[in-house]
Amino acid sequence: MGDEPLPRAERMLREVFGRRLAVDFPLAPLTSFRLGGPAALYVEAESGDDLVAVARAVRASGLPFVVIGKGSNVLVSDGGFPGVVLRLGKSFRWAARDGDRLSAGGAMPLPALAGVALSHSLAGLEFGVAIPASLGGSVRMNAGAHGRSLDEVVERVELFDLDAESTHEVPAGRAGFRYRDSDLPERGVVVGATVRLQSGDPVEIRRLMDEAREWRRATQPLAEPNCGSVFTNPPGDHAARLIEAVGGKELSVGAARVSVKHANFIVAGPGATAADVYRLMSELRSRVHDRFGVELEPEVRVIGEIG
Ligand SMILES: Cc1cc2nc3c(=O)[nH]c(=O)nc-3n(C[C@H](O)[C@H](O)[C@H](O)COP(=O)(O)OP(=O)(O)OC[C@H]3O[C@@H](n4cnc5c(N)ncnc54)[C@H](O)[C@@H]3O)c2cc1C
Repeated sequence: MGDEPLPRAERMLREVFGRRLAVDFPLAPLTSFRLGGPAALYVEAESGDDLVAVARAVRASGLPFVVIGKGSNVLVSDGGFPGVVLRLGKSFRWAARDGDRLSAGGAMPLPALAGVALSHSLAGLEFGVAIPASLGGSVRMNAGAHGRSLDEVVERVELFDLDAESTHEVPAGRAGFRYRDSDLPERGVVVGATVRLQSGDPVEIRRLMDEAREWRRATQPLAEPNCGSVFTNPPGDHAARLIEAVGGKELSVGAARVSVKHANFIVAGPGATAADVYRLMSELRSRVHDRFGVELEPEVRVIGEIG
């Protein structure tokens, strides 16, 4: 039994993480949807050595691996994830200024980094002030809002490569950034990034940030569990418009329903399951496809097996 993948990875991780390794660890509280089952193995990395230990355990066991950030764009399967889930711990939450550049750790919340930019009168990150993401997750997803996105400011990414067991620098031009996605590999962990901003007027920076927060309060169902936009916008159109046009705002499956405030948001009511959300997504996709011939592409990342 000792050579089965799970016990093998558990033994290897236990040697390095000790009691910091969690078995059958509930993931729902780590996600904005508050849904889904446990991770077979869960660790928070606090150092490069921790990351190397995770890489070795994953490679030796062959278990699936996923890194999560603030969990604001993930749908975790009700059955959980049968492998190793990694999150960057507190020591990856830092920021430092060098002229008009800010470097920060992958666990730094994007709104907090926007706050650091404001405190140094640096403009260019106002759009990120209300995106509830970590820097690592938002770089991987090329998060954006108000017509701006991270690729416009990211200069370089520090990537820990699970297969090489080491960290290297990826210049932004080689990260394959595109609309709400990048080519950064799934077996890579964004441990830090540097953004290049410009000096600006703090009053104007604060005004833009206040506006961004206010716009969200007015247009998004922030009081209910959700994952932000469920689908990416198809070229030249808006997923919310298409969903609304097919009667999506009246739809629900189980306790998951389309938000009346924003048709591209699904909110999870009490007792909702990830399967409810997934079935509702499928229904919306097929209605939009039948009526408009448009394939809605999920923006939310599924963790584990659903459907
Ligand atoms: C209320 C609400 C509003 C939102 N508004 C916006 C918006 O305006 N614009 C927008 O773009 N998004 C928005 N989102 C979605 C979400 O915040 C973004 O997709 C964000 O980039 C996800 O970051 P995260 O740290 O939460 O990553 P997670 O949700 O934890 O993970 C998302 C993906 O990134 C990967 N990942 C996470 N951390 C790392 C890391 N350190 N290294 C490598 N890969 C990693 C995961 O494996 C997964 O594939 C919103 C979400 C909510 C709940």
